[in-house]
Amino acid sequence: MNRVRLANPRLDGLEPYDPKNLPAQVFVSANENPANVPPAVAAEIERRLKGFPLNRYPDATANRLRSLIAEANGLDIDNVLVGNGGDELLFNLFLTWGGAGRSVLNLPPTFSVYAFNAYLTGTRVVDVARRSDFTVDEVSVIERLQSADDIDLVVITSPNNPTGDVASSSFIERVLDATDALVLVDEAYWEFSYQTVRPLMTGHRNLLILRTFSKAFSLAGARVGYILADPYVISTFLKVRQPYSVDAVAQTIAEVVFENRSAFEPGIRAIVDQRARLLAELPLIPEVQVFPSESNYILIRLPQAHRVWERLYDDHSVLVRDFSTTPGLEDCLRVTVGSEDENARFLAALRTIQEGEAS
Ligand code: PMP
Repeated sequence: MNRVRLANPRLDGLEPYDPKNLPAQVFVSANENPANVPPAVAAEIERRLKGFPLNRYPDATANRLRSLIAEANGLDIDNVLVGNGGDELLFNLFLTWGGAGRSVLNLPPTFSVYAFNAYLTGTRVVDVARRSDFTVDEVSVIERLQSADDIDLVVITSPNNPTGDVASSSFIERVLDATDALVLVDEAYWEFSYQTVRPLMTGHRNLLILRTFSKAFSLAGARVGYILADPYVISTFLKVRQPYSVDAVAQTIAEVVFENRSAFEPGIRAIVDQRARLLAELPLIPEVQVFPSESNYILIRLPQAHRVWERLYDDHSVLVRDFSTTPGLEDCLRVTVGSEDENARFLAALRTIQEGEAS
């Protein structure tokens, strides 16, 4: 047959997720760690990968890595599941707690993948928009949860991407107490905020924490993330996950990294220091509004943001993330905290553009 039947019409008009990665000298767009894994850790990875049995399937549930993560968090192995990046686990979340006839409470503007997965799985999205300063409208969230019993899943991102703010632990506790819906607290960036809701797992079986090796642990390229949750939640995820989604090489790399996680602390501190520098210097640039951040990126708002984005890229080879057409994020750009040199180049480029505009 030289024709093909049309795909599921639900996919008509759906655009594939586009990370908008373009080559740039200063790549501060994807919230990656500016540093590769420290040399001593890289050497140990190399040693462990020598003569690696690539002909063998991986351990389907990555039990060695799971138990390392469980132990570090004071949990049992059946409280932990590892996935092919946080993204795979977010997809599994909507396969398990979402679906036709089910509803997710979302707090936009936030990470777009939640709404995307909801759409793919036919999950109804109930939005409680953030306030104009991007803080969560806590009263409305609690009221919405108490007004009807229709929410199956709540998504709270802390620190939130792309706005950078953390949700308070007391608010998350109130959410957990107000509903038996599964509450995802996405802590992909928690290491930069030094705040976690892990203690709330005690007494709250409906708490699910998502974390990743992609940011603080410099492993965006290896694709490893994990969840911490009640064994019932973990065993439900096991029903839908792809059997061998976390490959054996990635498991080994993540094991070495996790065993040596203290080696990443100076890198995390450097990012936090550089964040402070950006937060201090950005407001001095004409017409730039800066939102506070406890993460490894900063959201800014400025007139003609898309044009500024173009000029940063075209004239200075600096790539930041353009959110200017995202509802609620009009005229916003997000810059990842890079190395000292990258941040200097970004600041200089933005200053040149803005001072040129102002004169
Ligand atoms: N959650 C949030 C809020 C993110 O920003 C990201 C990465 N963009 C992820 C989860 C998933 O990250 P990864 O798939 O690299 O683990």
